[in-house]
Amino acid sequence: MTRAARGNRNPGQAALQLTLPFFTPPSPPPPPAGPSIHIEGQLVGYWLRRTKRRTIGFTIDDRGLGVTIPRWVTKAETEIAIGEKSRWIARQLALWREQSERRARLATRWEAGGKVRLFGIDRVLALDEQADGVTLEGERIVVGMAPEAGAERLRNRVHGWLQEQAKAYFAGRVPVFSARLGKAPQRWALSSAHTRWGSCTHNGSIMLNWRLIHFRTDVIDYVIAHEIAHLRELNHGARFWATVSDLFPDFERARAELRSMTDTDAAD
Ligand SMILES: [Zn+2]
Repeated sequence: MTRAARGNRNPGQAALQLTLPFFTPPSPPPPPAGPSIHIEGQLVGYWLRRTKRRTIGFTIDDRGLGVTIPRWVTKAETEIAIGEKSRWIARQLALWREQSERRARLATRWEAGGKVRLFGIDRVLALDEQADGVTLEGERIVVGMAPEAGAERLRNRVHGWLQEQAKAYFAGRVPVFSARLGKAPQRWALSSAHTRWGSCTHNGSIMLNWRLIHFRTDVIDYVIAHEIAHLRELNHGARFWATVSDLFPDFERARAELRSMTDTDAAD
């Protein structure tokens, strides 16, 4: 997911599937050494790509600022266009930095004592060779694994367990919101998308991201209610939000919380 100033929304496609996007950095190749420009008092390097498009576009991701320009646009014209967008660019760069720092703070150390957030509470990983499977014991997630098993195996095991927890929680909540709406999805399934919390297709198929299990239940419920509401209103208009409010009256607080934890500045 990148933040794009223009050009990445396709209204035709949006009618088919609506998504709750979030922000996970891609792992692109390192940027080529590019030109730099002063934006709001800081010197900002950027990379340039020429395209067949007729407009100048901006993206911010972990490569920094990217500018795509039509073939005929000169460097001077590019700099003018960046200048016109400078406030937006400076704000997006600052948001990106904040989010990178937050992600670094929240990243799990996959070893005994590492923290995993479950239902909004940090739990501590404990490894116990004698234990069976993975169990939640108070504040601890006890994993039946030898301490020397390694980070990769521990992560896979705990992710598998978190997915089971997510599936069980969603299985309890989807029918609740479906009953309130009077309409159930054709099917629902877990997703592990890196770009969205949930989605609903025009034929009534709902995907819910298992990583929601990290959040408080009200935040998870908001996402479920949001996708269920799309079964009636496949749009983000006033009637859609009224439907969400019928299903989950306190949704605004949960939505604000979700936005503060992730980047959902695209339409959700
Ligand atoms: Zn939506």
